[in-house]
Amino acid sequence: MYQTVHINPALPNKPRSSVLVIYTGGTLGMVYDRLNDQLVPFDFEQILDRVPEIRRLDFELTVVTLNELIDSSNMKPDHWIDLGRIIRKNYVDFDSFVILHGTDTMAYTASALSFLLEGLNKPVILTGAQLPIGVARTDARENFITALEIAAAQENGRPMVPEVCIYFNSLLLRGNRAKKKESVHFNAFHSENYPHLAMAGVSIEYNTPFIRSYDPEAHLVLHEEMETQVMVLPLFPGINRQVIGAILGIPGLRGLILETYGAGNAPTDTWFLNALKSAVDRGLIIANVSQCDGGRVTQGRYQTSKLLQQIGVVSGGDLTVEAAVTKLMFLLAGEPDPDRLKKRLAEPICGEMSV
Ligand code: ASP
Repeated sequence: MYQTVHINPALPNKPRSSVLVIYTGGTLGMVYDRLNDQLVPFDFEQILDRVPEIRRLDFELTVVTLNELIDSSNMKPDHWIDLGRIIRKNYVDFDSFVILHGTDTMAYTASALSFLLEGLNKPVILTGAQLPIGVARTDARENFITALEIAAAQENGRPMVPEVCIYFNSLLLRGNRAKKKESVHFNAFHSENYPHLAMAGVSIEYNTPFIRSYDPEAHLVLHEEMETQVMVLPLFPGINRQVIGAILGIPGLRGLILETYGAGNAPTDTWFLNALKSAVDRGLIIANVSQCDGGRVTQGRYQTSKLLQQIGVVSGGDLTVEAAVTKLMFLLAGEPDPDRLKKRLAEPICGEMSV
């Protein structure tokens, strides 16, 4: 059971759209509790006091608050599946969805939802803030109001952005291309390998050629499993045999994201390549993703990546680590055939990588 609040911003006419807001926690919803001298999550019943501009929006809002509001550092795959279930349950009744979420793991949640919500044809916009809604200089109000506007935006009766996105500080980004890059300034997210989907200034300008098209035939199918026996291993000069051996030897480990250098390069030491090769031969799925935010892994360009290709490491192309780890969790849970799994890992499923 979740707490649900209906917000009726005194609409003059028939509302043009209905938006379901799902409040999960994070900095955005914090207010200062003078009595106990601490920041606490605010009660959404007071949203009109905090963000009175909502009264001027001409669409209907309903807010669902998760039972336990969390700092997004505590986000887990089970939360992603719960969010998916809330969206599936309300899919027919609402035109779009806005998820209020902490910034720390927002890119992971956005990526995960893009895989779990197969056939999504409605906007799912995640947003949050760097400063709590109760602070005078907060970015929460602008982020929230514009995320709502984007979620409600339609053209010829169809949503402008029928996909999972992150809206933050004027930019709308594809969710599975976004990355948190900044912990202090308001421009918290970027998407190095894919253009922004919209920019909000005096008006909201949509970058239509890059937005997923509406598919009149699509039906929502929610996937409800994620495999958590995965690991992310960033390489660094000096990483030694014991460390590699310990990680590859984790009992039950099924998937590994190897964060390599530059265009997908790794050391060529025989012990290193042998360790990876025997793990791949045992059935471990290894994906090669770059430590660089921009550019892509091109296995085979240098000898140092060609050897990885030869031992069966899958190229992650221009996947972000967030998209790679959630894609691996998703595929390991739902794709039993290892060859098909490797093929799907290397190909785009929902716009998360370029071909
Ligand atoms: N630690 C917070 C969170 O991710 C930070 C934020 O919301 O920006 O929940």
